[in-house]
Amino acid sequence: METPHDKKLRKVVYLTFPPESSNKPVVCDLARVYGLGFSILKAQITPRHEGQMTMEITGDAASYDAGMAYLKEQGIGVAPAAQRISRDEAGCIHCGMCTALCPTRALALNIGTRLVEFDDEACSACGMCTKVCPVAAMEILLENGAM
Ligand code: SF4
Ligand code: SF4
Repeated sequence: METPHDKKLRKVVYLTFPPESSNKPVVCDLARVYGLGFSILKAQITPRHEGQMTMEITGDAASYDAGMAYLKEQGIGVAPAAQRISRDEAGCIHCGMCTALCPTRALALNIGTRLVEFDDEACSACGMCTKVCPVAAMEILLENGAM
């Protein structure tokens, strides 16, 4: 039987690396040791040689918790990166692809106008629409200065 810890999750985290950890392959360990998927959205080194990285992580909840605990043990700062979604109104071609999978109905077809409307108040920032939009009109904006 599936437990909450078996559920696949997707999180965006903001990591800060002290200078002494810059040579360690800790990020690779997330995949190698903990079986997590990751993609680096942004990375930079500050003038004081502190590394900053915004990363999207996918995997089951137990692996995610273990992986984040491992990063903290290595002295790496881990914080959730708040994200919100915005739509490029001029770019949207109102194809409707996003409406089928938007879980909160923040993207919905207006039957009268045949246009897809975006209600950002209803958006949970799950990011699903950004993966299907053929013209990349749905954009993820991250806090922590990430994107
Ligand atoms: S981010 Fe998620 S909730 Fe928000 S509009 Fe896109 S699919 Fe809907
Ligand atoms: S998938 Fe993109 S182009 Fe199509 S309606 Fe949604 S936001 Fe607009």
